[in-house]
Amino acid sequence: MNPKEDASLKELIRKSALLNAVKHDGNAQTGPVVGKILGEKPEYRDKVKELSALINEIVKEVNGLSIDEQKRIVEQKWPETLVKEKAEGKHLPPLPNVDKYHQVVTRYAPNPDCVLHLGSARAIVLCYEYAHMYKGSFLLRFEDTDPKLKRPSLEFYDLIRKDLAWLGCKPDEEYVQSDRIPIYYEYAEKLLKAGDAYVCTCKHDDFRERILEQKPCDCRDLSVEENFVRWKRMLEGGYKEGEAVLRVKTDLDHPNPAVRDWPAARVIDTEKFPHPRVGSKYKTWPLYNLACGVDDHLMGITHIIRGKEHLTNEVRQQYMYQHLGWKYPEAIHYGRLKITGATLSKSKIVQGMREGIYTSWDDPRLATFAALKRRGIQPDAIKKMIVDVGPKTSDVILSWENLYAYNRKILDQSTDRYFFVQNPIELTVRKVPKSFDVKLGLHPDHPERGFRTYRIQLPEGDDSVLLWVSKKDVDASKVGIMLRLMELFNVKIEKANMYSAEGVFVSESYEDARKAKAQLIHWIPVGNDFPCNVVMPDATVTEGVAEGACKRLKPNDIVQFERFGFVRIDQVNTKLVAYFAQK
Ligand SMILES: [Zn+2]
Repeated sequence: MNPKEDASLKELIRKSALLNAVKHDGNAQTGPVVGKILGEKPEYRDKVKELSALINEIVKEVNGLSIDEQKRIVEQKWPETLVKEKAEGKHLPPLPNVDKYHQVVTRYAPNPDCVLHLGSARAIVLCYEYAHMYKGSFLLRFEDTDPKLKRPSLEFYDLIRKDLAWLGCKPDEEYVQSDRIPIYYEYAEKLLKAGDAYVCTCKHDDFRERILEQKPCDCRDLSVEENFVRWKRMLEGGYKEGEAVLRVKTDLDHPNPAVRDWPAARVIDTEKFPHPRVGSKYKTWPLYNLACGVDDHLMGITHIIRGKEHLTNEVRQQYMYQHLGWKYPEAIHYGRLKITGATLSKSKIVQGMREGIYTSWDDPRLATFAALKRRGIQPDAIKKMIVDVGPKTSDVILSWENLYAYNRKILDQSTDRYFFVQNPIELTVRKVPKSFDVKLGLHPDHPERGFRTYRIQLPEGDDSVLLWVSKKDVDASKVGIMLRLMELFNVKIEKANMYSAEGVFVSESYEDARKAKAQLIHWIPVGNDFPCNVVMPDATVTEGVAEGACKRLKPNDIVQFERFGFVRIDQVNTKLVAYFAQK
């Protein structure tokens, strides 16, 4: 068949060309498209010449579209390709020993005692991206086995699920450890039965003294039967808090005393500290290394990706894995990620909420995902930043500016621009020769998005017009100076105080302003404005007026207020309430 007459071939070429274009900043290359088509339609191998001509033609046509248009078509017709693109387009270093496993499985395991915040992002994004990079599985596991000191709270299970969904890291499976307590008991009993664990009833200080001297306590060599009697008593509530601990045997001469015979389960007075999900049902609770170690094995986790503060936990768990005849997963321990100026401490966030310093989890002063979302920080900006940092072991210090740079790359092109005048004062301009019609594009690079128009109408028998300008732009220091009202005309300021200003029309030409190096300022016609409050990252409110066209905005829209910053629209009613994202 002549390639030109094969409609399905044409469509295939178009798809391939569009995908290639999106990958290469809007410019598809013919070579890879030819290769791709020949791979899928080998019957055209003896018609390469005709085929190449056709591909050339279609590539040209595709390259004639703007990248936004290309993306729009791909999104509409082949959305599945974008998901793939996202997961594979990143450049994380490969995981170790992937070939040894049937499928890569990673997990994110938060304690539901707070909402998620920027400090959680590294663990989540790396685990999620790696799972997807290898077409594996990403699990969410709620580690809620400390009803006393790290007490989980019901609201957080759901808030964490929502946070993950917002970040675009939805888990493939979910587990809750408080549902699995009998499983941990089962493995505790296996260890006891094999003599690899014991129930220690020593006073904490006595045990510590012995273990520091690399000596066993008296409980270590009790018979299996005696251990089971003690274990049963633990389960039935026969011991009070602190009276009995299940310990897993290790080398007593391990150089790190914190590893030696580590505690695996302890008694908690759940009458006093009921668990929010299972109440007082259990008196004995697994500690971190028992629950986490057992789960990682049973859930088939192949790659544990976590902070290097967990290195000692790996050493502890290795002993348990040996006892049970299991193979420890690959473990990748990354360095600390600090973000200067951000409160990344869960306890400080929770305390601030309790004391009423913050009124909600999305208070703009917080670095919670909820707050970032409210401000218009894009989840993809966070993802991209984390992927770029990668899983390296050295500590990394980032700033808000780093995150803003990623966010700006997304928002700069995707948001429309509007005028916003903060702390407005009225400027009267006299000697205006005529009425003006101003057409303002929504985005300088995207004329296709349209524009707003404003008429600056001279009243009957009057030559002056009224405009809102910012107190910051027009103050006493500007008297006698020419300013350019953007896209409108040049004005010489004659008077200015805290409440109003007066000026006189100079000329319309932008060239005059350029020559005089006049400052360009924003303006909004009085009468075609919309009051607007912007909530800033420090929770203060900047008052101002937005241009009338902002009345059509909707909550969750993100726009750029020119010379002010990117904001997310939060409410639209008699006035606009916006949250400030960044400059
Ligand atoms: Zn003991």
